Amino acid sequence: MSHQHPGGHHPEPEPYAALRTKALESLLIEKGLLSSDVVDAIVRNYEQDIGPLKGARVVAKAWVDPAFKQRLLADGSAAINELGLDGSRSPLVVVENTPSVHNVVVCTLCSCYPWAVLGLPPTWYKQPAYRSRVVIQPREVLREFGLELDESVEIRVWDSSAEQRYMVLPERPAGTESMGEDELAALVTRDSMIGVAKVKVPSARISSLSGRG
Ligand code: FE
Repeated sequence: MSHQHPGGHHPEPEPYAALRTKALESLLIEKGLLSSDVVDAIVRNYEQDIGPLKGARVVAKAWVDPAFKQRLLADGSAAINELGLDGSRSPLVVVENTPSVHNVVVCTLCSCYPWAVLGLPPTWYKQPAYRSRVVIQPREVLREFGLELDESVEIRVWDSSAEQRYMVLPERPAGTESMGEDELAALVTRDSMIGVAKVKVPSARISSLSGRG
């Protein structure tokens, strides 16, 4: 697994900028102009809604349009640009989960991440524990995320870098045959596109689909 970080420079937040942000946040909270709940909510919004929403649209499109899926797997960046989504500065490779292969993404050296489609990385993605352990014991780490994979499933770990980012194309869950693109996109989570979860259909949704709800 190669991991190239020429110059060691990344579009990561500067420590100074982080400190400055913290200082400003503390000051605004102290003056009663801002509450930490609001700040948390905004960050959560970026992490969970704004960012991954783009990736979710890409996944849903690939599920309903086989020709798009082929293009996406052949050249992720180009296919994503077709959707009018801002491509990242570095090439994006999309790797497909199947019943026999499960892909998971990491950056072993720092926190390279497909920001353009997934928004901000979750905190755990940047932590040394995930970065080192998912490479050595991927099955174990995925189990800790609540994802139990059969021993027969091959796990492929993709090490992101400033030159190449990865996004997982999760499997389309069973029972979603009647869903349209928007409905499908709403099921796709950030974690499923990093590869630490599968896309699931909420059980309430399953019963309504099968006419029992
Ligand atoms: Fe990195």
